[in-house]
Amino acid sequence: MGYDEAIRRAVEANVPRTMSILDKYPYVTELAKELRKAKEEVIRNLEYYVDKAMKSIQAIGAKAYFARDGDEARRIIGNIVGKGNVIVLGKTMVGSEIGLREYLISIGNEVWETDLGEFLIQLTGDKPTHIVAPALHMTRERAARVIKEKLGIDVKADPSEIAQTARRFLRDKFFKANFGITGANAVAADTGAVLLIENEGNIRFTTVSPPVHIVLTGIDKIVPTLHHAFMEVMVQSAYAGLYPPTYVNLVAGPSTTADVEQTRVSPSHGPREVHVILLDNGRLRASKDDLLWEALLCIRCGRCHFHCPVYRALDGSWGESPYVGPMGVMWTAVVYGIEKAGPHAMLCMHAGTCREACPMKINIPEVIQGIKARYTKLVAKR
Ligand code: SF4
Repeated sequence: MGYDEAIRRAVEANVPRTMSILDKYPYVTELAKELRKAKEEVIRNLEYYVDKAMKSIQAIGAKAYFARDGDEARRIIGNIVGKGNVIVLGKTMVGSEIGLREYLISIGNEVWETDLGEFLIQLTGDKPTHIVAPALHMTRERAARVIKEKLGIDVKADPSEIAQTARRFLRDKFFKANFGITGANAVAADTGAVLLIENEGNIRFTTVSPPVHIVLTGIDKIVPTLHHAFMEVMVQSAYAGLYPPTYVNLVAGPSTTADVEQTRVSPSHGPREVHVILLDNGRLRASKDDLLWEALLCIRCGRCHFHCPVYRALDGSWGESPYVGPMGVMWTAVVYGIEKAGPHAMLCMHAGTCREACPMKINIPEVIQGIKARYTKLVAKR
């Protein structure tokens, strides 16, 4: 059974569920319109908002860093964690973008992905094939086989049994971990608060159990206010077909308590240090690009993938992982450049279903058409 079967099952499960969520909670569609306006404002003034977010993050006792590219982000994180530590990763696609897990292992750490999909990806060595569900290409049968082969644990080819096996295996990694690293769904420029949505509870563990929490995220995740950050969380989870999300985590600096004489001290039960790394890696350049700026509106709901005939036909391998599918072709251009994105763009059939499905109403076919045109010019010059 190949990738196509796993993706077919996922599409059949996700699409009707998302449609019914959007029918039942029509206010989400209204929030999406407001959110687009707020994100446009940030993209037009990205340097200003990066600076504002960094100042707000520092003001709440966390440390803020700006990383120009993957090398710089890896170096910053490497300096914080050192070697010989246990590190748990919540799902971070920006981490995949810069090869973070492989890097942390290479400098001498024990590293575990804790999101079930990413955990399966770590065991197989596959590349993520969906922005929300990285192991979307994996059938339940293959997942069970991989757990048996790599961990020596017998498990039935059943989603619930697979989840319970991962839960038992990862439980003590959370408590042993010296560092927890996550991405972010939104960063509020006015308060420095980071919002993370999830369903598994692994991000809650990762952000609270280890003494140090590191956030690695793209500067495109900055929104003007905490109010907009909550909007983003609601819109993203609804369009991902997971509404309401089981957990929304808000991290605004290290843990504190004010229970003795209302004097606020840190740390309390949670981390004593929080580090937030804001990654550029092509995003600032894209914000000034009359074609690619629109890609920065993407809130990573993963809906366009499910509605795209090319993504389905190519078994989730369309684009440069972790940026695959319609959003992935645009993001391949943002992060890895036109040379890499061009061959993927050339496969687009312009069905237009991605634009209809997108909560941010990004004109994805037009952006991909523009990437094709730029790539054609590049090829002609060779
Ligand atoms: S391009 Fe639109 S539909 Fe696709 S992941 Fe981004 S926000 Fe969601």
